[in-house]
Amino acid sequence: MFDVLVIGAGFAGSTAARRLAEGGKKVLIVEQRAHVGGNAYDEPDENGVLRHVYGPHIFHTDSTKAVEFLSRFTEWFPYEHKVLGYIEGKLVPIPFNLHSIEACFEPEKAAHLRKVLVDTYGMGTKVPILKLRESDDPAIKELAEFIFEHVFKYYTMKQWGYTVDQLDPAVTGRVPVSVSEDDRYFGNSFQQMPAEGFTQIFRKMLDHPNIEVQCGENAVPRLKPLPEEGKILWDGEEFTGPVIYTGILDELFGYCLGELPYRSLWFDVQSHAGDYQPVTTVNYPTPAEQHGYTRISEYKKLMKNPPAERTTIAVEYPFAYDRSAEKGNIPYYPVFTEESQEKYRGYKELADQIPNLYPLGRLAEYRYYDMDKITEHALEFAEELLK
Ligand SMILES: Cc1cc2nc3c(=O)[nH]c(=O)nc-3n(C[C@H](O)[C@H](O)[C@H](O)COP(=O)(O)OP(=O)(O)OC[C@H]3O[C@@H](n4cnc5c(N)ncnc54)[C@H](O)[C@@H]3O)c2cc1C
Repeated sequence: MFDVLVIGAGFAGSTAARRLAEGGKKVLIVEQRAHVGGNAYDEPDENGVLRHVYGPHIFHTDSTKAVEFLSRFTEWFPYEHKVLGYIEGKLVPIPFNLHSIEACFEPEKAAHLRKVLVDTYGMGTKVPILKLRESDDPAIKELAEFIFEHVFKYYTMKQWGYTVDQLDPAVTGRVPVSVSEDDRYFGNSFQQMPAEGFTQIFRKMLDHPNIEVQCGENAVPRLKPLPEEGKILWDGEEFTGPVIYTGILDELFGYCLGELPYRSLWFDVQSHAGDYQPVTTVNYPTPAEQHGYTRISEYKKLMKNPPAERTTIAVEYPFAYDRSAEKGNIPYYPVFTEESQEKYRGYKELADQIPNLYPLGRLAEYRYYDMDKITEHALEFAEELLK
């Protein structure tokens, strides 16, 4: 009855489904949650606040392809994300920049540190903390140690459960030190949020006569991958069309090579009167004994027409993923260690033995994608498949 089977209705599955449907394919999407949208799902709460249920999502990109595609399903409003970090009792701009130096050091010392940083790396550059720490200049070294201690060290330990040294440098490289006075968190050319939220995008994207969506059902019990025979069964029968799988690969293969590690999150959602904090996100890069959480997000600051009276915040606690735990039972982020990547390669080899099975997205590919990147990737993937 259908040509393509898609597991998961997040950005990866929904974007691929839409493109394939427009290419004339009949697509069935099976989504285990009660709703579409994956981790970008948002819904209005009792305060009239559009809450991002799986953590705050900010759209920012330089990809014309992603913007053109998504703009078919939404209007946008300009939004430039700003983050403050709680450092020694003060709230200072994150990524750590020249303004942060002024907030953290006495004026004379701050002026000297600013000058050395600008002279060495150039105004407007972004420098990974690991590179800054390797500097031979004593002033830069001292600054690097301060930033490492107060911005990266404890945040990384809380976020990932590992020290910075144990993780792939790409993880800490994602939030560099910014040699500039630009307090925005992102530097992309397109920084806008969907006017009616992300969920509306998915509803419109999946509203196509060639797409059928089944929510509330885990697809794994209905799938049986047989790598040694190079095929995959759906409801007990061989399915020869493309199976686009956006869930976790270890689950699909019955954890036969052991469980892949993921980092999970739990949100303590609170309601308050008025406003809670000066910007959408305040990071707490402090030791776990001081603040057990990593950040607090205030959702109404992400809305076009926020309600005035009350506000909703989410206090974010990282956990090791454990599928049977009460808190931390959703796989949010792959954990990048050498061992985990080796194990993932084992699962990927099994998947590669089935020519019509396509792992797609941040879970199935075991890598981090922003929303724009996965949209672009899924579009290119579907276009290739249609050829
Ligand atoms: C806390 C957090 C904050 C983020 N913030 C940003 C941000 O600010 N900006 C940004 O650009 N990106 C952000 N991202 C990244 C963004 O969430 C991803 O780019 C996007 O979710 C990737 O889409 P996906 O479809 O690959 O995965 P997902 O959104 O996770 O979708 C996968 C879907 O598959 C479903 N599924 C899995 N297994 C099965 C199964 N067996 N059967 C049926 N359904 C299944 C899941 O329920 C889910 O709905 C953030 C991610 C997280 C975790």
